[in-house]
Amino acid sequence: MAKEEKQSPLAKLGLNTPADLALHLPIRYEDETELFDIGSAISKHSQFSVQTQGRVIDSQVTFRPKRQLIIKIADENDELILRFIHFYPSQQKQMAVGLFLRVRGEIRHGFYGPEMVHPAVKVSMPEAPLPNQLTPVYSTVAGVSQTLIRKAIEKGLSDSRTNSFLREIIPMQWFNQPKYDVLKGLPSLEIAIRTLHQPLASEHKESLLDRTHLAWRRVQFEELLAQQVSLQQAHVERRKRLAPILQSPKNGYVQKLLNKLPFELTAAQAKVWQEIAHDLSQPFPMNRLLQGDVGSGKTAVAALAAACALDNGYQVALMAPTEILAEQHFQKLVPWFEEMNLSIGWLTGSLKAKAKREVQEQIMSGALQLVIGTHALIQEGVSFAKLGLAIIDEQHRFGVLQRLQLYSKNGDQAIYAHQLMMTATPIPRTLAMTYYADLEVSVIDQLPPGRSPIITRLIKNTRRLEVVDGIRRELLKGRQAYWVCPIIEESEALQLKTAIETYEQLTTELPQYQVGLIHGKLPAVEKSRIMQSFKSGEIQMLVSTTVIEVGVDVPNATLMVIEHAERFGYAQIHQLRGRVGRGSEQSVCLLMYAEPLSMAAKERLQNLRESNDGFIIAERDLELRGPGELLGAKQSGETMLRFVDLIRDAWLVEIAKDFAHDLLQNDPKIAHDHVQRWLGVRAELLKS
Ligand code: ADP
Ligand code: MG
Repeated sequence: MAKEEKQSPLAKLGLNTPADLALHLPIRYEDETELFDIGSAISKHSQFSVQTQGRVIDSQVTFRPKRQLIIKIADENDELILRFIHFYPSQQKQMAVGLFLRVRGEIRHGFYGPEMVHPAVKVSMPEAPLPNQLTPVYSTVAGVSQTLIRKAIEKGLSDSRTNSFLREIIPMQWFNQPKYDVLKGLPSLEIAIRTLHQPLASEHKESLLDRTHLAWRRVQFEELLAQQVSLQQAHVERRKRLAPILQSPKNGYVQKLLNKLPFELTAAQAKVWQEIAHDLSQPFPMNRLLQGDVGSGKTAVAALAAACALDNGYQVALMAPTEILAEQHFQKLVPWFEEMNLSIGWLTGSLKAKAKREVQEQIMSGALQLVIGTHALIQEGVSFAKLGLAIIDEQHRFGVLQRLQLYSKNGDQAIYAHQLMMTATPIPRTLAMTYYADLEVSVIDQLPPGRSPIITRLIKNTRRLEVVDGIRRELLKGRQAYWVCPIIEESEALQLKTAIETYEQLTTELPQYQVGLIHGKLPAVEKSRIMQSFKSGEIQMLVSTTVIEVGVDVPNATLMVIEHAERFGYAQIHQLRGRVGRGSEQSVCLLMYAEPLSMAAKERLQNLRESNDGFIIAERDLELRGPGELLGAKQSGETMLRFVDLIRDAWLVEIAKDFAHDLLQNDPKIAHDHVQRWLGVRAELLKS
């Protein structure tokens, strides 16, 4: 750890250059510019901090109700109590009777009268001048004081390199075009940055705090513009890459598959299949996201795309985030492709080393035409002889940075595979325009016919017996049910224990029926055996931890109970309940909750009850959690937008997108310089 010891305090914060310092913008401000006498401070009744001053007239440590330091200050007319619940003896000395203090804090009305609890205190003089600027507060880490950061930033701002970093790259006339009216009046970047670090007392305080001040706007716009330019560049770059032109002949596999499918495509499936087929026939790699609510029938569309690649003699990889899902795809696709004489393989992490090696060799030799599996498919040791198409199910669960870079060499030319990603979690518009801007999106906006929408009900966990009665009635009709056990974040062991208890309890409560238990700790073969028995109807009631998650397909299951639903997020519940409602029978999802419910949990459960629309759910989710989790950025640790909030600044995204487009068309050099300033090395990340 010698390396860490040597790190300077500022380096710990990633502040290495004047530019880093300039862009380390305050998280909030303190206002020391105004001073009130004690009487008017008290009568201000403000929920914000106020500053006042006075001489210490009393200082004592009391012990009731517990040990605390009570200081009393006074000016000519009034008195104010300062209360410290935690304090050092040295503090008591600093506030000795007779000293003059300037204090800042919120005033509340305590038992002994008006008081400040733990105010900021400075020993001062009555006539000491006031600053004419708000005091910035920066995010920091242990061991780096505000004073140190402030000084460093002040110094950084007067460094000549800062000026050149903050120079105006985009000529003013760009901002003066009528169609960018909303950008008129924005300060230059340099002024914006200086204002944000050192705002004069006369600046509009609220908008500085909620980041809608014009100075913030300028910074946000700059950042969005850089992102949009680099996304649009990536889009152009992709079109320069080579990919196989895939077209399906008459009576090829595509036609055979269409004949073989036990249903007609819905209009929505047919439409997205056309979109995909068009992309596949282009000489550059497809980068398309197939979005469709749970149960909308994405697999059939994926299978058609696969068939098209196979028709052209290319290999296809189909990758799912879990073994269960991969296996479901396998079981679904094998019968569909039956009688077509294709070699279909299976590759997951849990294969024995020898079997794995065999599959890898067959992939490498081209003997396997379609390979279905998990992450194992993109791990080292796997190289496809002739990969034409990679299909990635539930792509958001793989994380953004794990995007595939799948290509094979033809001489010294790289031939890229087409990529089709599938998700049941719709991407809200602002996200689609920012992080996912280089994706074409196809939407299946229709469920296969004959489905009746899922009814979602909220039920208190004290009514568990009624819930079990409900299950009994459903099973009696020959249907099947899921019971999803609660997430217990603190302890996986406890989570398992709860699941086993629920399993045992339901086994006694439903003696005529076969109850099964599935959880993450089971070996893969065991999981798949249980899923098979549930699918075939041997097991009627399946108790599970959240392993069933996405994609599991058992149309006869019509009831789902989610226990402690208040602990689940929007997307999780929406995905889970998509496991039912897959057949023509009415399905029900019971969200069992425990009181007391937080406001947020209550609202979430109500929204889930009221809407079955994945888009609405995703928007709510974005509002609630921000883009990080939807993007999988949690895993990647990389957030591209530091100052932009996609909810608050959504309107600005649209403008930045047009602006970026115009800039790239008319002055690519400026566009490039701008991206360099903002993203530097990170620009490369967006291109993958
Ligand atoms: P998801 O989009 O959630 O991945 P699936 O592809 O698993 O959905 O399809 C859900 C179910 O609907 C499957 O049983 C599938 O066979 C069936 N299905 C798909 N398309 C149609 C269709 N056009 N008509 C009837 N059933 C369909
Ligand atoms: Mg699916």
